[in-house]
Amino acid sequence: MDLSVILTYRCDSRCSMCHIWQNPTQTAHEVTLDTLAKLPGGFDHLNLTGGEPTLRKDLMEVVELLHPRACTLEISTNGLHPDRLVPIVERFPDIKVRISVEGFEATNDAIRGEKNGFARKMESMDALIAAGGRDLGFATTFQDENVEEVVGLYRLCEEKGIEFATSALHNGFQFHKDDNVPYDRMKVASKVEDLIREMLKSWNAKTLFRAYLNLGLIAKILGHDRLIPCTAGSMFAFVDPWSDVYACNVRPDLKMGNLLEQGWEEILKGPVAQEQRAKVKACTQNCWMVASAKTAMRNPRFAHLPRLGPTAWVVRNKLKSLLHIPIRFDQDVDYSVVHEDGEVARRESWLGRKQKANLQPAESRQYSQFSSGFFNR
Ligand code: SF4
Repeated sequence: MDLSVILTYRCDSRCSMCHIWQNPTQTAHEVTLDTLAKLPGGFDHLNLTGGEPTLRKDLMEVVELLHPRACTLEISTNGLHPDRLVPIVERFPDIKVRISVEGFEATNDAIRGEKNGFARKMESMDALIAAGGRDLGFATTFQDENVEEVVGLYRLCEEKGIEFATSALHNGFQFHKDDNVPYDRMKVASKVEDLIREMLKSWNAKTLFRAYLNLGLIAKILGHDRLIPCTAGSMFAFVDPWSDVYACNVRPDLKMGNLLEQGWEEILKGPVAQEQRAKVKACTQNCWMVASAKTAMRNPRFAHLPRLGPTAWVVRNKLKSLLHIPIRFDQDVDYSVVHEDGEVARRESWLGRKQKANLQPAESRQYSQFSSGFFNR
């Protein structure tokens, strides 16, 4: 099983597609080391995320506690605090670090509301490489405002010898967003095709399977059903800053228990978790975020191998790339069907704006306003 631990909802970025920063947690309420110590060993992938996890002063202690309990321990970060990250990478060179970058200078800094964010992230990445990090990379969320730049970002990652992780706009209670909808679905999808073609030139197995993951993102961007059913609550779960355990970070009605009050096994094997898994089976959202896509692509019998379908797609299209045969995306995705957004409210583009700090932060634990109002198409 994979687990994401949301250490905090405090964040010093001001992203347009994620409003966690307007809804920070209080430090005193955040999941403690004692509570995290209740997690067992044997996770395949454990992600420390937020908010911004490097704002937790005890991040090194959290890593010391959880590193032995997972095959891969990841920190998802805005990369603005290298002083917190470098000592961790020096001590644990195999730790996976993904720094969010939403484009080059102007684009990143506008979408993420970060002063000199792009330049600071590049400095942080260089410091982590110099510190001996072995699993480093940038992570980007495809959206209309940055999709022209994603091939350039991928090439930058290739030059630096690091990974390039991707996702697309999603709505969800964790992000406090219900208007994350692309303006021009076809344009965003066609630019993702360009990235997939680039990735298929690689000989790195991770990159080749990420090309398939990006194919799933095209389906998501066009508003289609998921390529593979979701396994939330059984193959992956989330612990939030209040120690609540959720099957996923999209639907607020999929809470399975609370780690402060219950044991891990009690939560996973309890009747509430079973009820929530039944809801997951019937879920009509078409999320394709890293947690739900990666676990769905995994072979149900041999967790370290991919499913047959994604493997066949990768082999077929790698061969085509090698032989310079055009890759036909319309064989996998029906481009004649694009979801009609109707009356869905469109998010505002923040490109070109200098600052957006006039919104007042307010702590919020009640997600009820999102219980039916968002739709991931
Ligand atoms: S598909 Fe449904 S259960 Fe799966 S992550 Fe999305 S909202 Fe959650």
